[in-house]
Amino acid sequence: MTEIGAHGARLTIDLGAIAANWRILAERGGTACAAVVKADAYGCGIGRVGPALWAAGCRTFFVAHLSEGIAARAFLPEAAIYVLNGLAPGAAAAFAAHGLRPVLGSAEELSDWAAVSAGRLPAALHVDTGMNRLGLSVPEALDLAADPRIAASGIDLILSHFVSAEEPADPVNARQIADFARVRAAYPTLRASLANSSGVFLDGARHDLLRPGYALFGGNPTPGAANPMRPVVRLEAMIAQVRAVAAGATAGYNGRWTAPAPARLATLSLGYADGFPRAISGRGQALVGGVPCPILGLVSMDLIILDVTAAPAARRGAEAVLIGDSLDLDAVGRAAGTIGYEILTGLGSRYVRTYVESR
Ligand SMILES: *Cc1c(COP(=O)(O)O)cnc(C)c1O
Repeated sequence: MTEIGAHGARLTIDLGAIAANWRILAERGGTACAAVVKADAYGCGIGRVGPALWAAGCRTFFVAHLSEGIAARAFLPEAAIYVLNGLAPGAAAAFAAHGLRPVLGSAEELSDWAAVSAGRLPAALHVDTGMNRLGLSVPEALDLAADPRIAASGIDLILSHFVSAEEPADPVNARQIADFARVRAAYPTLRASLANSSGVFLDGARHDLLRPGYALFGGNPTPGAANPMRPVVRLEAMIAQVRAVAAGATAGYNGRWTAPAPARLATLSLGYADGFPRAISGRGQALVGGVPCPILGLVSMDLIILDVTAAPAARRGAEAVLIGDSLDLDAVGRAAGTIGYEILTGLGSRYVRTYVESR
């Protein structure tokens, strides 16, 4: 029996493509390039992705939580690892013990860190230029530039985050770029970082360190234009059964689809419990032998029904592609009424995971 037969589906992650994408972004940005590997490297697995990026030359990593930083540290013993979500009360000693760098977002966090760091342990300072989510406001950051707590806290990096970097025409980009430039000028000794994946493609945003995440994993950082990144993830599921139905037959829970004419249906052994979104019901597609086949009715917990009338390759044991080839992450996200980011980070651990290293 094949592995896909035992698990129903297979997720293939191309570490060579991740490394190639990191190089593409570093070259495009013309400055140092970090990697954002929060959420277990966007669902791809920090244990394999971290070392692959390190081998490609990446030396700085960003995660969201202390726990993710601790997990990443095990695979990246020498890397600089920053924790974006800041310093929780009482967490400073754990950061220090694991050599992790908090991204400090308030004067209280700064004081907490200064007490443990005594100026010796690095950290970053987060400035909020528009998200109203994390970080000091621009006036607070400007006021704090002369504060002795800055020197006492060991801060070596100042960063901010874009509101709409994937929409280059949005005027908020220019405002954030200008505000961040003003703040950074008040901290002339610090390195500065503004660009996420899409920000790498915005002029004036690149500064000293790029912070791409999504594009490393094959997502398109320039929606509306061709994707400059190599695809990384491929999701395939096995066909469990094929059946012929008559006109008027329904498929799946609540009979949400009715056959307008006689049809052939294939049942895939993958469902929403695998992280494939139920919201794609009736809207998405899978490829069988390269033929796009509509997803019919409601996605079940463990199964999906396809219309394979036009796909002669459909038979028991054959594989259907759910993400890959013409079905890229962004297309799957659109079909599910969400973004590729959510598809990627939602991919489950139920299926076989295979890592490959394409060149
Ligand atoms: C997630 C995140 C990034 C990476 O964003 P992508 O759009 O995935 O490239 C960069 N910076 C911050 C602060 C983030 O939260």
